Amino acid sequence: MTIDMKDIVALCKRRGFIFPASDIYGGLNGFWDYGPLGVELKNNLRDLWWKAMVVTPPIGPDGTPVQIVGLDSAIIQNPKAWVASGHVGGFSDPMVDCKETKKRYRADHIYVYILKRPDDKRDVLENIEEFFSEMPVYLGFVEGTEPEVIAKKYDKIYQKTFENFEKIDKPRQEKEYHPVELSKISSKFLSQIVGPDTKSPGTLTEPKEFNLMFDTYVGATQSEDSKAYLRPETAQGIFLNYKNVLDSSRVKMPFGIAQIGKAFRNEVNPRNFIFRSREFEQMEMEWFCHPEEVEKWRDFWFDERVKFWRAVGLASDNLQMRKHGDDELSHYAKEGLGTSDIEYKFPFTDPDFGELEGIAHRCDFDLTAHQEHSGQKLEYLDPARDNERYMPHVIEPAAGLTRGTLALICEAYTVDEARPSGVYLNFHPALAPKKAAILPLTAKEEHAAPATKLYLELREEFAVDLDIKQNIGKRYARQDEIGTPYCFTIDNDTLEDGTVTVRDRNTMAQERISMDKVAEYLREKMKANAGGLKAAA
Ligand code: ATP
Repeated sequence: MTIDMKDIVALCKRRGFIFPASDIYGGLNGFWDYGPLGVELKNNLRDLWWKAMVVTPPIGPDGTPVQIVGLDSAIIQNPKAWVASGHVGGFSDPMVDCKETKKRYRADHIYVYILKRPDDKRDVLENIEEFFSEMPVYLGFVEGTEPEVIAKKYDKIYQKTFENFEKIDKPRQEKEYHPVELSKISSKFLSQIVGPDTKSPGTLTEPKEFNLMFDTYVGATQSEDSKAYLRPETAQGIFLNYKNVLDSSRVKMPFGIAQIGKAFRNEVNPRNFIFRSREFEQMEMEWFCHPEEVEKWRDFWFDERVKFWRAVGLASDNLQMRKHGDDELSHYAKEGLGTSDIEYKFPFTDPDFGELEGIAHRCDFDLTAHQEHSGQKLEYLDPARDNERYMPHVIEPAAGLTRGTLALICEAYTVDEARPSGVYLNFHPALAPKKAAILPLTAKEEHAAPATKLYLELREEFAVDLDIKQNIGKRYARQDEIGTPYCFTIDNDTLEDGTVTVRDRNTMAQERISMDKVAEYLREKMKANAGGLKAAA
């Protein structure tokens, strides 16, 4: 069953997971706030990642735990660091503007639909000049545009442009359009392309590079000399502290440094809810090792990271692994093993997948660049290898915390028309913002007092909710919608025999257990459900 993203966004707002930032002022494109439940869910994912990386890092190929230490570096660093890392010169996307609507698009996110009959054997990219001379007008669409919208626009524009349109066969079949990224088409054809939001051709400008870093000024004067940047990734803070960590802690090669924190990118088209935002959070780990060992560690981290995402609840076919093609190599990975992505099938990418985490071989690009620009020696003298001196290579599992939170919500969103809420969030109990709700059947003192007592006991150990008002059905519906795995109800029987009803979120099955066994019950359930997590964390 396809899930409509609008329903997920609405639930997130209605129940307090995610709000548009500055909502009362109409929001700000690309920025989001995490509400009372959203922050709990995000913190749970963050803490499990930290545990899996820093607190109890996995057992390495040699049977002993690998070494990883944590870090929390500043968001604003010396701007020279971003020159060295390549972000000042190269961290940009090709952009086109529409002169008519003033809209701005990423050139690699606009697809021009080249008309090609099924019996036409020509390769579109190789023969693009021919195609453009055969048809005076082509249409560009933003990535992900619905086929019906494409067909409709074709009809309208061609009817208007060519009186004899009927004679050239309406391109109705989807397979007759051949989508080509605008960035792959020579700008000399721009005058023939109709932009995504216009009706006549020739309004798009030539693609130009647009740097994604937000800048700011440090200190009282605003000049080129005081210009600084908000970090576009957490990774560089790790490279900048590589020497400090080596000099101050007992780590030896190979080892990792992990960091979770905010990153900022002035994305051209923030979209798809929190998937692509301008302020987001990353969970990144840089794994430093001898250059000859990169392949082994790349495979190791790849497996570990997949295990992690499966364990936190992305266990379905919606999770997939993908190796990058050669044309996608980042500026730092030219010579290396490239990047493999862990991807998730979000409702808005379906049937395609969107990146959740990239596992990149960054070679020695960053350390070498920082050594050159800072003048500090960053090579490693390896006592385990006869004092060999080398620049370590780096394997980097880089995940999005906020994007991961979205994947958890999408995966958990389960439509069930048999229940009053019509939907429930099937979170893994370890991720659920609330582990249990305590619900007295009525607000009367005889029910409310023991419920409050139970709540006060449980909250010492678990994130629990006490909800006294409203009818019980409405309260169950609320807990279903926020993904609480267990509800404990206190009723008249409780007063007589000291038992409570436990309701299971997924099955809605109810059983009675003794009130003084509730903590133990919850502990057992958490343990049983956390099986996969223990393997990863
Ligand atoms: P994309 O190709 O989607 O722009 P990227 O390859 O540039 O992403 P990385 O630089 O590898 O992304 O960042 C690592 C992770 O950070 C990504 O896998 C993603 O989960 C997250 N991330 C990157 N950009 C954004 C964003 N604008 N909003 C939310 N999360 C992001």
